[in-house]
Formats: sequence, C-alpha cells, structure tokens
Amino acid sequence: MQRTFSIIKPDATRRNLTGKINAMLEDAGLRIVAQKRIHMSQADAEAFYGVHKERPFFNDLVSFMTSGPVVVQVLEGDDAVLKNRTVMGATNPEDADEGTIRKTFAESIEANSVHGSDSPENAEIEIRFFFSDREIVG
Ligand code: ATP
Ligand code: MG
Repeated sequence: MQRTFSIIKPDATRRNLTGKINAMLEDAGLRIVAQKRIHMSQADAEAFYGVHKERPFFNDLVSFMTSGPVVVQVLEGDDAVLKNRTVMGATNPEDADEGTIRKTFAESIEANSVHGSDSPENAEIEIRFFFSDREIVG
C-alpha cells in the first residue's frame, strides 16, 4: 500500500469538476483518505513549486495556482504514485491518452486540472506540506 498527493487545480474547481475527477480517481483503484478545499497563498504556491523556480513558466504557474480554490488530497492504493500518474495522463493534454483526467478535462499545459506526486519520496514531502496525521484517515 502506498500514498500519493494530489491537487485538483483551479481550472477544474472553477468548472465544478471535483466530483467527476474524484470518481475517475476512485475508478482507477485509488482511495481518497484525506481531502480539503483551500485557497493557496502566494507563499504556499512558491514553496510547493520551488523545484520549478528557474523555469520560464514559474510566475504564471504560481499565479494560476492561486487564482481560485484547489482541492488537496491524499490518495492510497497499490502503486498509488504510478496509478495516479497513469489516470492523470501526460502534462500536456494534447499528449495525454484517451480516458485520462487531463485528456478529458484539461484546458492547456498549464491549466491541466490535476497535480500528482512523481515519486513516493516527493509524495511524503508534499503530503506533509498540507496535512497532519490526524487529517489522514485510511
Ligand atoms: P504536476 O507536477 O502538476 O503533477 P507534471 O509533473 O505533469 O505536473 P511538471 O513538469 O512537474 O508536470 O510541471 C508542473 C506544472 O507546471 C504542470 O502541471 C503545469 O501546470 C505547469 N507546466 C509545466 N510545463 C509547462 C509549460 N511548458 N508551460 C506552462 N506550464 C507548464
Ligand atoms: Mg510534477
């Protein structure tokens, strides 16, 4: 059993897609063991995406992620990191496989509806950034 961290991004919450995305996560075999709707601050977004701070899209990404509410989640399941990346689809929705969340819902490479941790180690760090143990109920 593994855990991963997920965000339903502002483009998706704006279009009222939280339930549809959650259904796709659950249908993929993931269990939502923690979830809350928050509005990320500028400092939250800059810290969370700190690995990308030298990238040309960093400022736009921080603006986008603070442009509306997000839903932060902890997902649990066998191979949860990979399972979530698979159901999310490629970063650019034009490259994403049919049936994935990004192919179905994403508006662009930036407004791509969901975030998912890229390794179990990063999942642990990202979960700790947003959740305490008492908020995670498996
Ligand atoms: P995420 O980390 O959100 O799960 P990812 O791992 O598929 O997505 P990363 O390379 O980590 O993609 O990029 C983080 C986020 O930055 C992307 O989800 C996207 O919103 C944005 N992003 C990535 N590349 C670009 C780009 N070329 N132009 C604009 N935004 C981008
Ligand atoms: Mg990433």
